Amino acid sequence: MRGGRYVAAVTDATLALAPGECLALVGESGCGKSVLASALLGLLPGNAETAGAARLADGTDLLALDERTLARTVRGRRVALVPQSPAAHLTPVRTIRSHLEETVRELTGAAGRKSRAQLREAAEAAAERASFPATHLDRHPHELSGGLAQRAATALALIGDAPLLLADEPTTGLDRDLVDRTVDELRAHTREAGRALLMITHDLAAAHRIADTVAVMYAGRIVETAPAGAFFGAPGPRHPYARGLLDALPERAFAPVRGVPPELGALPAGCAFAARCPRADSRCRAERPPLTEGVACHHA
Ligand code: SF4
Repeated sequence: MRGGRYVAAVTDATLALAPGECLALVGESGCGKSVLASALLGLLPGNAETAGAARLADGTDLLALDERTLARTVRGRRVALVPQSPAAHLTPVRTIRSHLEETVRELTGAAGRKSRAQLREAAEAAAERASFPATHLDRHPHELSGGLAQRAATALALIGDAPLLLADEPTTGLDRDLVDRTVDELRAHTREAGRALLMITHDLAAAHRIADTVAVMYAGRIVETAPAGAFFGAPGPRHPYARGLLDALPERAFAPVRGVPPELGALPAGCAFAARCPRADSRCRAERPPLTEGVACHHA
């Protein structure tokens, strides 16, 4: 960073995701969730460094690929992204049809081979897969509601039939009905096609609806991973931060996690959650708890 500062934005993240499975990566804004997704797609800023491995099923290590390989063989084809704020990712002067046709042309190997009519048909089929209405295909991004922009982004992400789908905060800014519809659609696309879905979200209700597995991130580290049933039901989360996130939900205790997360560039020596944790003791402040049996806490 500027001034020679070094920030560990994500540390020791270990996740596994099978075809047909949805893993929800949850945590407050700024905890490192989106950095992790950007790392998988090779989209980190130029001053970022990565270490470790992120392997697809055939052994391809995403972190070891150069930009050209990522651009030509990975993005959209093997790992697709439903971006945060879809409307901001669409080109404002082009219609949704134009976005879809270009993506079909690029990702399906059809460049030069498809006639105009075939391309049009393929774009319309892509829209239909994400329930994007054909009546809105000739509209520009600013003419769409948040929900329709979300569907357009989902349609674009599904075109390449990538086995891994990353959805970065796909429900931000949507009302509850649209959140439910969006996550149900993402879930269906994952199950039906045997894709894996990594959904990054701070919306625990959406995570509850969609996830098979939950991973909780705090201050750049995964502090708990658990099957969704055990996490949202009994016995519930084991990490105090994860418990606090659930208690903050209006339908539960509606009690916020007090305090704010530490700066990633100035993490304390012990547990990063100690300053906010009701169970913190001197050991917590001195020793960083390792992730053991799915939880990183000295007193889980
Ligand atoms: S290690 Fe200590 S401070 Fe950290 S979450 Fe567990 S109990 Fe709280």
